[in-house]
Amino acid sequence: MSVAITIQNVVKKFGETTIIPDLSVEVKNGEFFTLLGPSGCGKTTLLRMIAGFNSIEDGSIYFDKKRINDVAAHKRNIGMVFQNYAIFPHMTVRENVEYGLKLRKLNKAEIKEKVDHILDVVKIRDYQERLPERLSGGQQQRVALARAIVIHPSVLLMDEPLSNLDAKLRIEMRSAIREIQKEVGITTVYVTHDQEEALSISDRIAVMKDGVIQQIDRSHTLYTRPYNQFVATFIGSSNLFKGHIKCFEGHTFVVFNDGYEVEMDNLLETVENGQEVCIAVRPEEFKFAEDGLSATIHTSTFLGKYNTYQVEVEEKMIVPNLPPVEVSQDIGHATCIYDVGEKVHLVPNAKKMNVFTADGEKSLI
Ligand code: ATP
Repeated sequence: MSVAITIQNVVKKFGETTIIPDLSVEVKNGEFFTLLGPSGCGKTTLLRMIAGFNSIEDGSIYFDKKRINDVAAHKRNIGMVFQNYAIFPHMTVRENVEYGLKLRKLNKAEIKEKVDHILDVVKIRDYQERLPERLSGGQQQRVALARAIVIHPSVLLMDEPLSNLDAKLRIEMRSAIREIQKEVGITTVYVTHDQEEALSISDRIAVMKDGVIQQIDRSHTLYTRPYNQFVATFIGSSNLFKGHIKCFEGHTFVVFNDGYEVEMDNLLETVENGQEVCIAVRPEEFKFAEDGLSATIHTSTFLGKYNTYQVEVEEKMIVPNLPPVEVSQDIGHATCIYDVGEKVHLVPNAKKMNVFTADGEKSLI
C-alpha cells in the first residue's frame, strides 16, 4: 500500500558539516513529488534519509502515521531507481523483475501473475528473455523501474534515473515514467537537477538550495510566481532589475531605476513608499512600445516564431523574446526587425512581473 510521507524538522550532518539544517515537507499519498535544485544542495541526501540509508540527526520521518526513523532500510518497503540502472547483468529481464518477489517468498503462480502484469505496464514483455547487455539504455531503465514497482512498495524513490540517457530518450522516458507512476499510483519522490524534467513530470516540486526548501508548488506556479529571486532564475530565466515602490493617491507603482513606472495591483499591502525592490521579468513578457524602459539593441537573432535580442537596459544586458509580427503591429510599421544599435522602448507585462524584497529573498506579491 502506498503511503503519505511526512518529514518534520529533519537535520542532516556529515561530521561537523550541516547539510540539511531544518527541513519539513509533506508528500501526499500517490503524489509525484520532485526534489529539484543545483548540484550539492542535498537532494540525494534527503532521498537517502527517506530510504533509510542515511542517519537522521534530528526530526522525524513518517510513512502515514508511523514514525520510521528507527526502521531499517530493508523494512521500509521502498522501491528505488538510480541513475545507473542497478540491474543484475547475469539475469534475464524476467529474472531481474522476479528477484524481489522471490526474496519475499511469494508462490510461483503469484510471481508469474505480478511479473507478467508489470512487464506489460512498462512495455518490456517482448524482451523478457534477454540479458540486460542486449537492451538499450531506455529499456534497461524500464527493467529497473519494473523491478522497483513489482514489489508494490509503499514509496518509490528515483534519483536522477534519466541522466545516463541521450536527450531524445530522456524525453520519451519522462512521459513513460509519469504514465506508469499514475497507473500504479505509488507515492514517488524523484530527484533531478534538470528543471525541464521536473516541470514536465511532477505533481509538485520542492526547489532546494543549500539544504533548504525555497518553494513547494506545482510547475505552473513555480514558473509564474516564484517565491524568491533564486527560484525566478533557477526555474526558466528572468531578467532582473532594481527599483523602488511608489505609493501615490491609493495606487501602487513599481519604479525602475531609469524612472519608468508600472502600476501594480497585486503587491502585498505591507509594501512601503520608497521601499527598494528587485524586479524579475520573464523574456516573453516584454513588448516593444513607444514608451517604456529605455533600451538599445545589442544583437538581434531571427528565430522564426520570435526574435531574440540582447538589449541593453540600465547598462546591463537583458534578453527579451519578441514575436516579429506582433512587434510590427504594436508600433504600426509594416516590418520591424530592429537593427543593432537602435534605441527602443520595452514594456514589461505588469500582471506577470515578479517583485521581491531588495535582497531577492521574498516575494512582495
Ligand atoms: P547532485 O545533484 O550533485 O547529486 P545533491 O543535491 O543530490 O547533488 P547531495 O549528494 O545530497 O547533493 O550532497 C549534499 C552535500 O552533502 C554535498 O555538499 C556533499 O558533498 C555532501 N555529502 C554527501 N554525502 C556525504 C558523505 N557521505 N559525507 C560527507 N559529505 C557528504
